[in-house]
Amino acid sequence: MHRELFPILDQQVYNHPLVYLDNAATTQKPLSVVETMSDYYLHQNSNIHRGAHHLAEQATERYEAVRRQVQQFIGAAHSHEIVFTRGTTESINLVAASFGQQFLRAGDEVVVSEMEHHSNIVPWQLACQRQGARLRVLPFDDDGILQVDQLASLLNEHTRLVAVTQVSNTLGTVNPLQEIIATAHQHHIPVLVDGAQGIAHIPIDVQALGCDFYCFSAHKMYGPMGVGVLYGREEWLDQMPPYQGGGEMIKEVRFDGTTYNELPFKFEAGTPAVAEVLGLGSAIDFMQQVGVETIARHEQELLAYATAQLQQIDGMRIFGNAPHKTSVVSFLVGDAHPYDVGTLLDKLGIAVRTGHHCTQPVMDHYGIPGTVRASFAIYNTKEEVDELIRALERIVPMLG
Ligand code: PMP
Repeated sequence: MHRELFPILDQQVYNHPLVYLDNAATTQKPLSVVETMSDYYLHQNSNIHRGAHHLAEQATERYEAVRRQVQQFIGAAHSHEIVFTRGTTESINLVAASFGQQFLRAGDEVVVSEMEHHSNIVPWQLACQRQGARLRVLPFDDDGILQVDQLASLLNEHTRLVAVTQVSNTLGTVNPLQEIIATAHQHHIPVLVDGAQGIAHIPIDVQALGCDFYCFSAHKMYGPMGVGVLYGREEWLDQMPPYQGGGEMIKEVRFDGTTYNELPFKFEAGTPAVAEVLGLGSAIDFMQQVGVETIARHEQELLAYATAQLQQIDGMRIFGNAPHKTSVVSFLVGDAHPYDVGTLLDKLGIAVRTGHHCTQPVMDHYGIPGTVRASFAIYNTKEEVDELIRALERIVPMLG
């Protein structure tokens, strides 16, 4: 669907039509997003919030309009709860550093899950090391289902935060956030949600969900690289110290003491990625025009079709068999190394991801070095799934 809006898809790779199935790493960008960004540079470029001139005012207005657009898109109560960052990784690092400094003390605990991306593990390890706190881990079972019934037993009076992914980028599992958040909140513990793999596939309402922080990247939702969002509830962001110092995040700077700007500017030091923020706004327009439900339905069809076809292949092992998944399927075939499978698929024009997908604990769980991962977006087709299956049928015998 809507392939004509994505010119990049119309090309040959090694004399084969490109089949792009690496959407969980990054989605392609529709023309409208690229044009929004080039239009900004061609006609409006200027630094925001500072200049008392026409272009600066226009750029500032458009940048702030996207903040309100994001607020509505994710159902936040206030636009000042939307902080623009470089992406999910920076959003999580911001909270780990700032929340960690304010609320984590020696002997405290942070809970993450076994299926987290490294970017929702390492920032917490760093924060725990700095503060003398400890990381605890909620496991998943062999089907890739989080053992949420064990969460309550991990929580105690020392737990300061639960950080969990909405969707596993390796297993595709959609986690029961409502249940996780309810359990944590019963213990008065805030919850950070890594929405990197959720935002493009699941309609999100942060207030209905009740999460305290929600993080995502524009580039996984048809938008540009280099920009993302941290949503944080006002009551938390207000209590948290600045993450980086610099221009725009201050009220007054004196050598005997500096005061900080109000939300969200307290967390946006320096010149932001204005063109990218506008590109994010355009990506949200695209998703809303197509409809998040329509995107999800199309991807679910592709996932079901691909899973059924893959299961027909001899020696196929699929990792992640939760009943509720998004459009990610990770697999290994026979004894073939995932890297070899990926390389041969590439020679046939098929782009997949191979390796540990920045989730080494998931690989350790299964005792494997990595997987091959195919992931789908709105523009993928059943014919492309057929191409993948045909290619695998050719490749697998070659790899013994
Ligand atoms: N969390 C998850 C679940 C992801 O899939 C990714 C990207 N692979 C990230 C976090 C990090 O996102 P980014 O690299 O855009 O900061």
